[in-house]
Amino acid sequence: MSKKLTFQIKHRYQTMRTGVVTVNGRQLETPAIVQTGSALTTLTPTELRRSGVQAIKQDAMDYWRSPDDLGDLHDLLGWPGILVTASGADQAYRWAKPRGRKKDGVSFHDPDNNQLRFYTPQDALAEQQRLGADISQGFARDDDYFAPVDDLTAAATQTTTWLTKQPDLAGDLAPIVGGGLLWVRKASLAAVPDSVAGYSIMGVTLDVPTTEQARLVTEVVAMLDEAKLRYLPTTGDLHQLVTMLLSGVDLIDSDLAGREAAMGNALVGTHCLHLDREHFAHDNQLLDSECTCPVCQAKVSRAAIHHLLVTGQPVGERYLLIHNLFTINQLVTQVREMIARGQVTAELRKFAEHCDQ
Ligand SMILES: [Zn+2]
Repeated sequence: MSKKLTFQIKHRYQTMRTGVVTVNGRQLETPAIVQTGSALTTLTPTELRRSGVQAIKQDAMDYWRSPDDLGDLHDLLGWPGILVTASGADQAYRWAKPRGRKKDGVSFHDPDNNQLRFYTPQDALAEQQRLGADISQGFARDDDYFAPVDDLTAAATQTTTWLTKQPDLAGDLAPIVGGGLLWVRKASLAAVPDSVAGYSIMGVTLDVPTTEQARLVTEVVAMLDEAKLRYLPTTGDLHQLVTMLLSGVDLIDSDLAGREAAMGNALVGTHCLHLDREHFAHDNQLLDSECTCPVCQAKVSRAAIHHLLVTGQPVGERYLLIHNLFTINQLVTQVREMIARGQVTAELRKFAEHCDQ
């Protein structure tokens, strides 16, 4: 690999830190969100940038299955920022039958054409390189967070065997698997080569309560090389996002802006307005009087968005998406500033502690 990824830590506060990732002439400030979900298919790269998006995520499997060589995704998508790729292992395992879990890869039937395919850790790395990934991820076999111990151990053993045999398969962010079991996570970490830029804490799925995520992530973070990046490829609600940032995660996936927009919700600070409710029909205020997003700057009112939503005009959801994306990235910027100052507000801590589960 010709590229060089550096992570420079600027400020430390408790287990949190701010930093700068530099790779392939691109930079991002951490902590940061890695954008996933509908924002990527709805907004232009310029709109994403204006909303504060620094990094986007694509799944190598989506491109590996395509018969066309689409080249570097920065060119294809017109995206100038950091591109994070998923290895595609998750999808392959989801589609595979139990006998499809082989020692050297995963065999599955492509859901689009029923063709039998075989996907290996080597394929995953090559595909991510072909796509021009700035931050790639190693191939991992993982099981459900709450799966039986034997299953989690078997998955971790398979993952560590690959890494031990061929350390470059770890990618930039090496997978740490093992569900909620710290000793399996430890064994998984032991196989990670020194050369990686960071770790991807895998398998912390949406169904894992935020309090449990916080417990596990706090324990895992404490075991990691402090100089390396910590990535949580899991997206949840705003409580989860804030809780994970306060737990010392540097990069975290999020499709929250789009999910809330699809439900007709606008984020205002850490609160939520349900814009499809009747009483907004006569509310001429902006979504957030302090917001400087393009929608609020254009003076689009709550009443206007309510009207667009209830009459089924897609631009209503689009306005919410832009505003939400901007709001979430502003919040992450504020978290960076708090870490730099060495003080997280009591209000934010309280918000994080008040989890939905
Ligand atoms: Zn706004």
